[in-house]
Amino acid sequence: MAARGAPYLDELNPAQRAAVEALDGPVLMLAGAGTGKTKALTARIVHLLNTGRARPNEILSVTFTNKAAREMKDRVGRLLGQSIEGMPWLGTFHSICVKLLRRHAELVGLKSNFTILDTDDQVRLMKQLIQAAGIDDKRWPARMLAGIIDNWKNRAWTPANLPASEAGAYDGKGPQLYALYQARLKELNAVDFGDLLLHVVTIFQTHDDVLQQYQRWFRYILVDEYQDTNVAQYLWLRLLAGAHKNICCVGDDDQSIYGWRGAEVGNILRFEKDFPGAHVVRLEQNYRSTPHILAAASGVIAGNKGRLGKELWTEAEEGEKVRLIGHWDGEEEARWIGEEIEAMQGGTRGMRPIRRDEVAILVRASHQMRAFEDRFLTIGLPYRVIGGPRFYERMEIRDAMAYFRVVTSPSDDLAFERIVNTPKRGLGDKAQQTIQRIARANGVPLVQGAALAVEQGEIKGKGGTELARLLDGLTRWGRLIGDASVSHVELAEMILDESGYTGMWQNDKTPEAPGRLENLKELVKALEQFENLQGFLEHVSLIMDNESDDTEEKVSIMTLHAAKGLEFPAVFLPGWEDGLFPSQRSMDESGQVGVEEERRLAYVGITRAEEVCTISFAGNRRVFGQWQSALPSRFIDELPEAHVEVLTPPGLYGGGYGAAGMGGVQSSIDARVAEANVYNSPGWKRLQARAGQRPVAQPGEARNTVIDMKAVSSHSVGERVFHQKFGYGAIIGIEGDKLEIDFEKAGTKKVVARFISAADD
Ligand code: ATP
Ligand code: MG
Repeated sequence: MAARGAPYLDELNPAQRAAVEALDGPVLMLAGAGTGKTKALTARIVHLLNTGRARPNEILSVTFTNKAAREMKDRVGRLLGQSIEGMPWLGTFHSICVKLLRRHAELVGLKSNFTILDTDDQVRLMKQLIQAAGIDDKRWPARMLAGIIDNWKNRAWTPANLPASEAGAYDGKGPQLYALYQARLKELNAVDFGDLLLHVVTIFQTHDDVLQQYQRWFRYILVDEYQDTNVAQYLWLRLLAGAHKNICCVGDDDQSIYGWRGAEVGNILRFEKDFPGAHVVRLEQNYRSTPHILAAASGVIAGNKGRLGKELWTEAEEGEKVRLIGHWDGEEEARWIGEEIEAMQGGTRGMRPIRRDEVAILVRASHQMRAFEDRFLTIGLPYRVIGGPRFYERMEIRDAMAYFRVVTSPSDDLAFERIVNTPKRGLGDKAQQTIQRIARANGVPLVQGAALAVEQGEIKGKGGTELARLLDGLTRWGRLIGDASVSHVELAEMILDESGYTGMWQNDKTPEAPGRLENLKELVKALEQFENLQGFLEHVSLIMDNESDDTEEKVSIMTLHAAKGLEFPAVFLPGWEDGLFPSQRSMDESGQVGVEEERRLAYVGITRAEEVCTISFAGNRRVFGQWQSALPSRFIDELPEAHVEVLTPPGLYGGGYGAAGMGGVQSSIDARVAEANVYNSPGWKRLQARAGQRPVAQPGEARNTVIDMKAVSSHSVGERVFHQKFGYGAIIGIEGDKLEIDFEKAGTKKVVARFISAADD
C-alpha cells in the first residue's frame, strides 16, 4: 500500500507517517506549533491520490484561509509532480459552502444566483428592520444585533431552534428580528456570511438524500487548524463524515485564538467522543524553531490552565536567544525595527544575512501598523500588509483624508463626493445628482455646484441646511490653512470634529467604532511629523503607490491572528505592553478566559519564528490621542530568563536599559525602574523637546488620566486639556479649583478649572 520510497513519505517522521498512512477511519492529530501537522495533512492528500483511494475531486479539505488553500494546492502539485487544478473542494469552510449552497439553494428557498451580503449591507438591512419595528436604533444599534445574530449562526441556531436562554437578547426583540431578517434575506435572494454554513447544515439535516450523496462523494475529509472551528462548522463536518468516518483533523489547543468568534476548543475533546476509536496522533518534534524560541513559547503558554498539555523538542541548533528590547515610544520602536531589518540584510550579530521577505512584523492591533508603514516608507524599505487593508486604505482614514483633500483643494470632486453625505446629512442620491447637474451646467467643481444649489434653493429641507453648514465649514477651514495661530494638526482635529465625522463614530455603539476612532487619532498623530496638510497628503499618495512591484522582496506586516500557520526566519513582536497585549478588554474581563486567549496569541506569535524572534515594548504610547505610559506586558515577565537576551536600545537617553545590566528578564524589569528615574532627571524637558513630543505623564499618572477622562469630570495631573484662550496644554498641578497648566504655546499658567475642557472631547 505505502508507496515505499515515495519522497513525500520519506520526508516524514514515524509519527507523521503513521498519521498519513492511517487512511481509513477517524484520525486526530493534536500537536504543538511547528510539528508538521500541515505538512502531514498535505502528505496525506498526496497519499490518498497516489494510492488511488480517491480522485482529486473526492477529497474535502478545509483550510483556514484562502491563502493556505492555495499553498496546499501548490504543495500537493509539487509532491505529486503534476499540476493539480482538479481539487475543487480544497478551500475554506466558506468557499466550499458557497459552492454547495449554489447547487441546492432552492432547498432553503433561495435561487442559485443568490448574492452574498457584506457586513455593511447586512447592517443596513437590519437597521431598516429595526426602525420598522419602532425600536430606537441609537440605543439598540443595528451592529449590536448583527453581532448577536452572527453569534447565533456560529452556534448553528436558526430562528426555529433558538434556545429559550436567548429570549431576552436585544431587549427581548432579538429572536423576532432574527426571524424577520432571515425572511427579508430570502425575499432579496441574499445570504450573509454566517448563512453560507448554516443553510448547508440545514439542508443536510432536512434532506437525507442530499446528505447521503455528499457523504458518498467526499470519501475523505481533512481539516487544518481544527481548534478554531465553531459549532456550526463542527456540525457540518460531523454530518459529512457521519457515514464513512474518514476524517482527519489536525490542530493545537494552545493555538485556539478565535474564541471571541465562537470557536470552541471543546470540539477537539468532542472529537474522540463523536468518533470513537479515533486514531490519535501526537507529534512532539518541532521542525520550525530553535530551542531558545521554543523554550520561550513554552514558558509563556505554561501560564494557561486546563491545557491538554504537550512537550515540544527540537534537534535544531541553539541559535539566538529571544531578544527583548524596550523603547522610549512607539515611533522609536518602529525606527529601531526598520534599522534592525536593514542591518539584518547584511548579517548582524553573527547571524546569516536575512532577506526582507524572510522578515515578519506581527502586531496585536491593526492600529499599530501605521507607525511601521510610515517609517518604512520614509527609509524606503519595501513592505506589504497581509490580511486586511493597509492603514491608509481603511474606510475611516480615507474618509478623513477626503475631508483634508476638499479643504486643501476644493476642486477635488472625488473627495467631495465621498464626504458630502458622510456623516449622513440627508443628501441622498437625488440631492447629489442635483449638485452634479448644476456643477456640470456651470462648468465648475462640485463644491461650487453645491454652493449654487444652495443659493438657488434647489436642495430643500434638512439636506439644504446641512449642505450649507458643510460649505460654511469648508470655507472656514480653508481660510485657516495659512493661519499661524492654528497648527495643521489642530486644524485637522477641528475639521473632523466640526464636520461631525468624529461624532459619527462616537455615537456608533458597534464593536468596530472604538477601533475606527483609534485609527483617526493615529492619523492625527501621523500629521505631527509634517509641516502642513499638503505635505502629509503627498506623503500618503506615495504610500498608496507603493504597492506597485509585487515581485520585490518585502517585509510582511500583519496581525497575530493573520499569522496563524505561517512561518518566517525572523519575527518581530512589537507592542508587548499591558493594555495593548494583553488587550485592555481581555484584562477587564472577569476570570482569566480573556487573558488566556491572549496568551495563546503570544504563543502563536513566538512560534512563527524560525531563527530570530525579537519582542519589544515601548514606555510611552499614544492611545486615543493620549500619551500614556505603559508597563511591559505581563507576558514578558513570563518569558523564561535563560532563553532571553535583553538588548540595549539606542534610546534618546543614552542606553537606559543597558545601565540595569544584561541578562534575563528580571533586569528588564529593573530597567523599568531605572527608566522611571529618567522621568525625574534634569534632562527630561530637553529630551521631550528633542523628541518633539508633548509633555509625557509619569508612569501611573497617565494611566489614571485616561480613566479620569472617561469616567469622571474632575481633572488629574498629566491630563491634556484645552483652554479657549491659551490652547492646548497639560496639567502639572491642582489646587482646589485652580489648575496649573503647562500650555504648549503660552507657557505655564494658573487657570480656573471651569474654563478648560478635556483636549479630546
Ligand atoms: P502550526 O501549528 O504553526 O500550523 P504545523 O504543525 O502545521 O505548525 P508545519 O507548518 O506543517 O507545522 O511544519 C513546520 C515546519 O517544519 C515546516 O517548515 C515544515 O516543512 C517542517 N517540517 C515538518 N515536518 C518535518 C519533517 N518530518 N522533517 C523536516 N521538516 C519538517
Ligand atoms: Mg499548520
